[in-house]
Amino acid sequence: MTATEELIASAEAHSAHNYHPLPLVVASAQGAWMTDVEGRRYLDMLAGYSALNFGHGNPRLIDAAKRQLDRVTLTSRAFHHDRFAEFCARLAELCGKEMVLPMNTGAEAVETAVKTARKWGYRVKGVPDGRARIVVARDNFHGRTTTVVSFSTDPEARADYGPYTPGFDIVPYGDLAALREAVTDDTVAVLLEPIQGEAGVLVPPPGYLSGVRELTRDRNVLFVADEIQSGLGRTGRTFACEHEGVVPDVYLLGKALGGGVVPVSAVVADTGVLGVFRPGEHGSTFGGNPLACAVGLEVVAMLESGEFQQRATELGDHLHAELNLLVGTGKVTGVRGRGLWAGVDVDPAHGTGREISEKLLDRGVLVKDTHGSTIRIAPPLVISKEDLDWGLDQLRAVLG
Ligand SMILES: *Cc1c(COP(=O)(O)O)cnc(C)c1O
Repeated sequence: MTATEELIASAEAHSAHNYHPLPLVVASAQGAWMTDVEGRRYLDMLAGYSALNFGHGNPRLIDAAKRQLDRVTLTSRAFHHDRFAEFCARLAELCGKEMVLPMNTGAEAVETAVKTARKWGYRVKGVPDGRARIVVARDNFHGRTTTVVSFSTDPEARADYGPYTPGFDIVPYGDLAALREAVTDDTVAVLLEPIQGEAGVLVPPPGYLSGVRELTRDRNVLFVADEIQSGLGRTGRTFACEHEGVVPDVYLLGKALGGGVVPVSAVVADTGVLGVFRPGEHGSTFGGNPLACAVGLEVVAMLESGEFQQRATELGDHLHAELNLLVGTGKVTGVRGRGLWAGVDVDPAHGTGREISEKLLDRGVLVKDTHGSTIRIAPPLVISKEDLDWGLDQLRAVLG
């Protein structure tokens, strides 16, 4: 057996099979490239579902982490620490909001938003106790906790996990009329991804997000934008909502906020919303820890320059122009996305998404399929034009 085969067999034997990884075993990584235990190199065109927007081993982020490792890494929120205030202030400023509630994983940020919206509904909006409802979109992906999968429409993510948390109404994504119908006096929030990532990088029709903004404002409902995957530069803007000039009431951030180093997530909103919490009403042992804040602060500093957003725009235009040339000519039936983020639909007659991903793996390119025959492409924003072009050559060879 090769080292790869041995390590995969051992992982299969000793870990739950809740993932089905591609058959390579990564040993190290730098920038947009990963190296496996056999010494083979691969171009990472998934970037940890946008957790690696700034690439593997980004020197600024690794430096920030190393400096903090030597000072203090964890205090719990029982005590103040000297990285906390600056992280919260700078992140709030990046978002144009007043307050931050830091957590660790994306799912925890979503859970925190559900709690925030319900509490806001009872304390501020005046919804009768126990009646608060939250409207979400079909085919959403917001994480894996029991409450979050309660409003998933993906049978794989949801089956066998009941009884489910009540209080959610599901409407088709991109359909303003359906959303208008679903909102009642008991609605406290509309929770949406401004681009649905897991569903296949679905961009809503023009006017949808601004329509959601107008409707939620009119009905005194919080607009909660889950920008955990779409935010922090991926689409060419700091937030995907910006493409429609929309400012939601609440931003949910995660993935890239931890710079690919540590899990860092956050709920960001104004005092009128996040001000509902009192001591003891919510928390997390690791949320807002010194290491997380040090790395998150560096991420915010990197985004303040606009350089990564600019790269995502320029390289994204190139990526989409090249991918669109494949539509109708090869095995590709459609391409969607924004910035350095694309969903490529492959004609199922030419194989499943998994089979396409394996062919690309053989050519040294790492991507991930989603929902049957869609391939998701989201390289680190630090990828060079030359490397992107090399990746596109491999895509053309497999999909052309
Ligand atoms: C990844 C993701 C989450 C969940 O984040 P975890 O860190 O995996 O819990 C939530 N929402 C969106 C849009 C995501 O892409």
